[in-house]
Amino acid sequence: MEIHRPPSATPDSGGKKKHGWFRNKKNKKPAHQGNAPQGNALLASSSQGHVAQGHVAQGHVAPSRAPQPNKIPHHGIAPRTDAKHFGGDKLRIIPLGGLEEIGKNIMALEYRNDIIVIDAGMSFAGPDMLGVDFIVPDISYLEARKNKIRGMLFTHGHLDHIGAIQYVLPKLGNPPIYANKLALGLIKGRLKEFALDKSAKLNFVNELSKLKLGAFEIEFFRVNHSIPNSMGIYLNTPVGSVVHTGDFKFDHSPAIDRPTDFQRIAEIGRKGIDVLMVDSTNALRPGFCKSEAEVAAKLEEIIEKTKGRLIIASFSSLIGRINQIVNIAAKNNRKVFLSGRSMIDNVKLAEELGYATYPKGTVRKINAQANSMPPSQVLILTTGAQGETLSALTRMAMGEHSSIKIREGDTVLISASPIPGNELAIVNVINNLYAQGAKVITNNDMDIHVSGHAHQEELKLMYGLIKPKCYVPIHGELYMRKGHIEMIKTVADPSMLATCLDNNGDVLEISKQGVRKSKEKVPANDILVDGLGFGDIGSRVIQDRKVMSEDGIVVMLFHAYEESKRLISEPDIISRGFLYLKESEEIAREVKQVASKAFEQITQQNRKIPLKDLKGELERNISNFIRKRLRREPMIIPIIMYA
Ligand SMILES: [Zn+2]
Repeated sequence: MEIHRPPSATPDSGGKKKHGWFRNKKNKKPAHQGNAPQGNALLASSSQGHVAQGHVAQGHVAPSRAPQPNKIPHHGIAPRTDAKHFGGDKLRIIPLGGLEEIGKNIMALEYRNDIIVIDAGMSFAGPDMLGVDFIVPDISYLEARKNKIRGMLFTHGHLDHIGAIQYVLPKLGNPPIYANKLALGLIKGRLKEFALDKSAKLNFVNELSKLKLGAFEIEFFRVNHSIPNSMGIYLNTPVGSVVHTGDFKFDHSPAIDRPTDFQRIAEIGRKGIDVLMVDSTNALRPGFCKSEAEVAAKLEEIIEKTKGRLIIASFSSLIGRINQIVNIAAKNNRKVFLSGRSMIDNVKLAEELGYATYPKGTVRKINAQANSMPPSQVLILTTGAQGETLSALTRMAMGEHSSIKIREGDTVLISASPIPGNELAIVNVINNLYAQGAKVITNNDMDIHVSGHAHQEELKLMYGLIKPKCYVPIHGELYMRKGHIEMIKTVADPSMLATCLDNNGDVLEISKQGVRKSKEKVPANDILVDGLGFGDIGSRVIQDRKVMSEDGIVVMLFHAYEESKRLISEPDIISRGFLYLKESEEIAREVKQVASKAFEQITQQNRKIPLKDLKGELERNISNFIRKRLRREPMIIPIIMYA
């Protein structure tokens, strides 16, 4: 999944997250399991492989319902859940994020003295998490075992898979990173922003690479997604093997990538897979996900037919689609102007890494030329497809963009689907664009966007190719993952067992006796990021912000004699976001009276009352009065100054 900035976000922060903020997590601290650290054992990272290159492979593609024994049974385990017989030599799979949200994907695989980490993503904060820019995963479990970490593997370069790298990497003692070309470029860019790129141990791997990291034998396979170079991962240990699909879809005509290598996936399946961890983002959508080629054809048709200026808003990580748009623009004698920081950065990186196939000089940064050139020769490629507050498209719609003024005759294409929660913001942007004179085409009008995630028929195909003993849906909220299991159950061989890990921090164990869910819970809370602080705000701070945002704040200032606890004068009242007290003198007077009376009563009953208790009692009294009088619950802060 690609995550995008929400309407409330600044260009570099903020975002959308669908679940609520409060999660009552009572994770017990797990016992430390590691023994002596073991050195890094990268034995091989070969570039030569045995993988059929090129297009859709022949054979082993059709999913079969008939049980098929794995051809290379490396240990022949039978899935069972009987705890009594469960062995001590275990491979533990621990998703620390990505199970309760779309985003923040990170998973640890632990076998004896070795840990492999897959992805390190962030997620954006929901509108209920006031002021929080984004969320990173809780990696305290890994921090306590950082000597065991042999490497971090990345499936692809989306922010929900790499976006927490600047937080995770230093905390885990800078373990080596393994990623494909584009993901590696994006990781490097992100680390550079935080001056961590020089020390990072960046290793290029592709679908042909084989690694031996500690006890783990690791291989990769090519999948398609909405960003090039996405890979699934195969990991084998002495007690069991796992396949992690990463985010994937099957696309026979992708924009810039090569199609999925089915033969390779079937080959991985024939190794005998104990556990398959599968992307659930579109598990509730029937059929097949459309190909990126269909989007290109539709965009080409629109670009050819349109006479006026064209503005296309899309996701800046859709490197393949952007490349297609620029090529179509060049063919139609249009210059492409890039608008929005991430669009400019990603196109630059794509050019540097060799992903761009368009003629040189076709693309330029946005400037006033886009207003003065003949409209039929201009195409503006911009961020802001989700209606984000400060994005380039929103600024254009508001008439606040520094270079572009929307005018009669402009056509705006929104080549994206709204992420749930962003619909209203997008409608606002569309209304404003129309008000400025533009015509807007969205995915509702024509097929100008496709998802990057497998629909149900593609998921079934993945199961048919891998034929795991057990499967665990990942990447998605609980209802998506439960739906995923129900859907696969209807077609899968009954011997294929489903396990649902309900929450982040749940642990799956594989031993020679089988696969089971452990009773153990590993800490997996949300680490909130606000500005430069990681995890320095928690539920209390957010709750305070919420109270203040809803009903404001009332500060009561008491001047009293310390000994007698008599008030020297009437309390002062200061408020923000509560009432404009100058215009509500009566209320202010009443609050002051209640506060005075409460102070006198409390202190006369107990002159030695500790300050903390006195403040608590005052807060309760004033709060009760305001609630009864106005049905409001502002934050009350009593301040007591003794003479
Ligand atoms: Zn993704």
